[in-house]
Amino acid sequence: KTRVYRFGNKTADGNSKMKNLLGGKGANLAEMSAIGIPVPPGFTITTEVCTEYNSLGEETVIELIKEEVEQSIANIETQMGATFGDKDNPLLISVRSGARVSMPGMMDTVLNLGMNDEVVLGLAKRTNNEQFAWDSYRRFIQMYGGVVLGMKPESKDDIDPFEEIMEHLKHKRGIELDTDFTIQDLQDLVYDFKEAVKRRTGHDFPTDPWDQLWGAIIAVFNSWNGDRAVYYRNMHGYPADWGTAVNIQAMVYGNMGDNSGTGVCFTRDAGTGENIFNGEYLINAQGEDVVAGVRTPQQITKIGSQRWAELATVDEVDRAENYPSLEELMPKIFIELNEYQDILEKHYRDMQDMEFTIQDGKLWILQTRNGKRTGAAMVKITMDLLKEEMINEKEALLLIEPNKLDELLHPVFEPGALKRSNVIAQGLPASPGAATGKIVFFADEANKYKSTILVRIETSPEDLEGMNIAKGILTARGGMTSHAAVVARGMGKCCISGAGALKIDYKNRTLTVDGHEYHEGDWISLNGSTGNIIEGKVATMEPELSGEFGELMNLADKYAEMKVRTNADTPRDAEVARSFGAQGIGLTRTEHMFFEVDRIKAMREMILADTVKGRKQALEELLPMQRSDFEGIFEAMDGLSVTIRLLDPPLHEFVPHQLATQKELAEDMHITLQAVKNKVAELEEFNPMLGHRGCRLGNTYPEITEMQTRAIIEAALNLKERGKICRPEIMVPLVGTVKEFEMQEQLIRATAENIFEERQDRIDYLVGTMIEVPRAALIADLIAEKADFFSFGTNDLTQMTFGYSRDDASKFLPIYIEKGILKVDPFEVIDEEGVGQLVKIGTERGRSAKPNLKVGICGEHGGEPTSVEFCYNTGMDYVSCSPYRVPIARLVSAQAAI
Ligand code: ADP
Ligand code: MG
Ligand code: MG
Repeated sequence: KTRVYRFGNKTADGNSKMKNLLGGKGANLAEMSAIGIPVPPGFTITTEVCTEYNSLGEETVIELIKEEVEQSIANIETQMGATFGDKDNPLLISVRSGARVSMPGMMDTVLNLGMNDEVVLGLAKRTNNEQFAWDSYRRFIQMYGGVVLGMKPESKDDIDPFEEIMEHLKHKRGIELDTDFTIQDLQDLVYDFKEAVKRRTGHDFPTDPWDQLWGAIIAVFNSWNGDRAVYYRNMHGYPADWGTAVNIQAMVYGNMGDNSGTGVCFTRDAGTGENIFNGEYLINAQGEDVVAGVRTPQQITKIGSQRWAELATVDEVDRAENYPSLEELMPKIFIELNEYQDILEKHYRDMQDMEFTIQDGKLWILQTRNGKRTGAAMVKITMDLLKEEMINEKEALLLIEPNKLDELLHPVFEPGALKRSNVIAQGLPASPGAATGKIVFFADEANKYKSTILVRIETSPEDLEGMNIAKGILTARGGMTSHAAVVARGMGKCCISGAGALKIDYKNRTLTVDGHEYHEGDWISLNGSTGNIIEGKVATMEPELSGEFGELMNLADKYAEMKVRTNADTPRDAEVARSFGAQGIGLTRTEHMFFEVDRIKAMREMILADTVKGRKQALEELLPMQRSDFEGIFEAMDGLSVTIRLLDPPLHEFVPHQLATQKELAEDMHITLQAVKNKVAELEEFNPMLGHRGCRLGNTYPEITEMQTRAIIEAALNLKERGKICRPEIMVPLVGTVKEFEMQEQLIRATAENIFEERQDRIDYLVGTMIEVPRAALIADLIAEKADFFSFGTNDLTQMTFGYSRDDASKFLPIYIEKGILKVDPFEVIDEEGVGQLVKIGTERGRSAKPNLKVGICGEHGGEPTSVEFCYNTGMDYVSCSPYRVPIARLVSAQAAI
């Protein structure tokens, strides 16, 4: 087994396809070397060795790779004409981490390794540059100290121990920049740094280059399991057994003086996607100086430099003198760099993000990778690459990261304003977008100020109207499928849920975070895409949907086989979804319709009625309202199918819980307050999620089903009279037994026949059921005999299969994920192993009884990429998701079919 792969001097053992083994960085270094790009020679220790290290430990692993590493170092020595650890002609190397995917800043790298008190003198003599040699030495101790010896800040508000020493000296010497240090200063720093290491670790700084090398290799392996990396991995669902590779490479020096430098560049604009080469560099600098912001970096191109000057309020003279572009300052190097960026982009057929270093007038490329980009840039770059014929249609579709499309559909913060903002806490990014407003704590006060953020411990259906008015919603409890999250996504409204660090005091109307108190009326801002909660007001802007976005969507539809419907409860939702390309409605929840002011009363009268007669009377009042709701939705979806779910939530959610409202209701209904209270108490359930809800309502109060059926069928007939076509699909929720469905189905069909008789006209309609109780999935063949369609309600199905209450799961799910008990939140990403089996069984058994059974999904999973792919593989006819996720589902549907 090969554990070490070499590269350099236009040859390489590996190539860019070997990312899993060599890591992204190593694979691309090999590839670049092989196609003739100048990369400093070196070698990559494979990710498998990292895994071996994790199981076998340090000593065994060093034994395994010692010989290969020593030979490979010798190989670098030959190529560079210098010797590792040599006093006269020393070779210095870098030891760089690199996992198979890029994890920016999450793992560790050490530069200038091989340095000690003798080597520094040799390097100074050899290069005739004492300043440079000592600068490299102090950099080495600093990096090695931090990465390998654990010289990190001791607490959160401490500064880096080496930075502290440097700041102290700068202050004493009255200088500002690292480049202002004299040789003597640098020598002093090296001495002080070593002292600091001794004091803190109790050991001398290692002087033997080979000890240094093994220490660094092990530290890079360890950084794979560092806190930062683990957090990042968990966030993206990258498994622990991937490991990181280690890249060892000859140093090239950007800190040799004014004819040297280092920089980062992009082949296209990562923010907008424009095809403009751009980037930043620093003269006389090394490694991450550009990113770390030790000095103001300069622009690569002249145009970029001029644009930057406008933003930075630097005048033209100042710009040309102090911040000239690379194009102006080193025209030859610029032309060469420009050539490489062009070659690399064409070679990788994607936008590249590159690192380079100029050593005394010679250009070296140190890294290239497919660049990270915003959602907007992603769409533009992809469609441009397609037009430039660099990629074909299928490749273009596969280049799109579905979730990133979300960013394009919601208001966004101005990037500059966001940079300056102060993040006070983080919650779950429940619904993306940017929202800024004044804090209110009660839904009915959402219109108290012009822009508000509704801050709640949790929300309930009663809060719907207020949620709709508020610019954003923030809750302390609840997960990604909490009420707040689901409703907000449906509205396309920014929402952060489950922000556990928030202490909300309704009584005093305060929000406390980390000891800091915020009051009603204070400004806060929410970044629903990251979950960041930000103090104060951050400027936002409306997104603009580009022409390229439309082109991309058309392309997706060309390849997609599975249809995409939407979940929509109002004509407005339906219209929005249709404008995003929804091909029907997969779920209309009827209960939200009852929460509007004039309706909730009739609804409550219905619930409080003690007799069938009383209930029917109240339902009479609701009928015309509900009918007109459906007319609106059918109209918006003219020509397409609309699935309507019969009343689902427990009645308890509709009754008033506040004394004032209870009194009001008692007066309206001419009953005593006590009677109202009794009824409220009577409806209370220990476990409402498993209680009197779904078709259990329709089966105990058939008059509700009757009224809703009437509203649906009459609305459809009314539209037919107006020349519109609608295809209602009436859906019975929470079915678990055949009889449960059959009773409802017969009632629906009988009611419809009655209406057809009355109206002397008919329409086509379907009667089907949700599959959301595990039992229903298991007896799907029996249910399918009676049902025209199935729609998997995977929210409830997940809840009942796992036995996790989705409204309480936020108490333990984050811990489960942290501990690795669960890989991901099953309410967010469908659990293929368990819940997925039920979906497959349900579909197969259903279709065994009725081959042409229409099958879809209407849970939150219907808009989540991996779940959508799963639905395609299961053979579903459609997925249904909230309006703003329709484009994502369309794209995934195409990707799945490719
Ligand atoms: P990261 O993955 O965090 O970017 P890198 O391994 O790419 O870490 O290295 C950090 C910095 O050091 C980069 O700016 C890189 O270009 C620079 N660097 C790495 N190796 C060398 C080298 N052999 N010579 C000069 N600079 C190097
Ligand atoms: Mg870094
Ligand atoms: Mg890098």
